[in-house]
Amino acid sequence: MGTITGMKLSSPAALVLSGLAFLTAIGAAASTELNVYSYRQEYLVQPLIERFTERQGVTVNIVYIKEGLLERLKAEGANSPADVVLTADVARLDALAEAGLLRAVSSPLLDHDIPTQYHGPDGLWFGLTTRARVVYYARARIEPGELSTYEDLADPRWRGRICMRSAHHIYNRGLIAAMIAHHGEATTETWLRGVKANLARRPQGNDRAQIKAITEGLCDLSIGNTYYMGLMKQDEEQRHWAEAVAIFFPNQGDPDRGGRGTHINISGVAVAKSTKHLAAAVAFIEFLSGDEAQRTYAELNLEYPVKAGVPWHPEVESWGRFEADRLGLDAIATYGPAATMLVDRVGFDD
Ligand code: FE
Repeated sequence: MGTITGMKLSSPAALVLSGLAFLTAIGAAASTELNVYSYRQEYLVQPLIERFTERQGVTVNIVYIKEGLLERLKAEGANSPADVVLTADVARLDALAEAGLLRAVSSPLLDHDIPTQYHGPDGLWFGLTTRARVVYYARARIEPGELSTYEDLADPRWRGRICMRSAHHIYNRGLIAAMIAHHGEATTETWLRGVKANLARRPQGNDRAQIKAITEGLCDLSIGNTYYMGLMKQDEEQRHWAEAVAIFFPNQGDPDRGGRGTHINISGVAVAKSTKHLAAAVAFIEFLSGDEAQRTYAELNLEYPVKAGVPWHPEVESWGRFEADRLGLDAIATYGPAATMLVDRVGFDD
């Protein structure tokens, strides 16, 4: 449950309190600290932590974790120092919730800032940014008019022209889970076999490695998250990969012709069940849902802010507006296990 202190700290009303009352509010928070476990990288999180500490006087201790966050929280149990968890992908947030490692939060401010479709069940987690999983295509060899939907990637005319990372990776698993939610397992299996038949090489590497392969002429199409376009452009050695490709948002337009929207996922935040600093934890999440943090967080990793009205980074804006799949994020988590079994059955990565 959100506490009064937590809401007061960052509510607009707190900002217009008289100097003395404001100092009292800060003083109350200054005695607290906050422990954050983060799957998200330091370059994203550090600037926000600094601003949060500056604004609210809460000392933040942060542990950056590469893998095994769930196992670690489980092993530490009630003694875990963790107050807040930062991660990407709804499946990861859902797994933490399923394992009983999260604490439900309710806060009018979060209800206001974060659209309901990005709230976990019972307020167990909150989405902070979204990213779309799009088609990257070779500018030199493909016209955008040739592209349409994810479903179309199974068409034999793409034989030998597609590069993909492992279908077991959480990004692809989410996409396949969404396909199952829309079409059922049998249709999705046929589709996945079709895409596999179109691969230029065995699945390998990360999202950027597929785009590098396009640059090298190994293939003409890949599937990747939007923000990598921006991250590659900001990297001197990778800029020419980004310049060789363009982003296509699949499944736009007429719903009768597959226009159900492009697959999206989230990055998000949750309060750990073990928290001993609930007020500060809620205040931190409220801070992350506010205009300034939303803009900063989304801009640093070139993602889409969840809060309405927060401007996109110009680079992100340059890719164009698109319709996102309206499928609930919970479906992506729900069908994840079925997606994993399907990938094995199809032998996609073999
Ligand atoms: Fe990523």
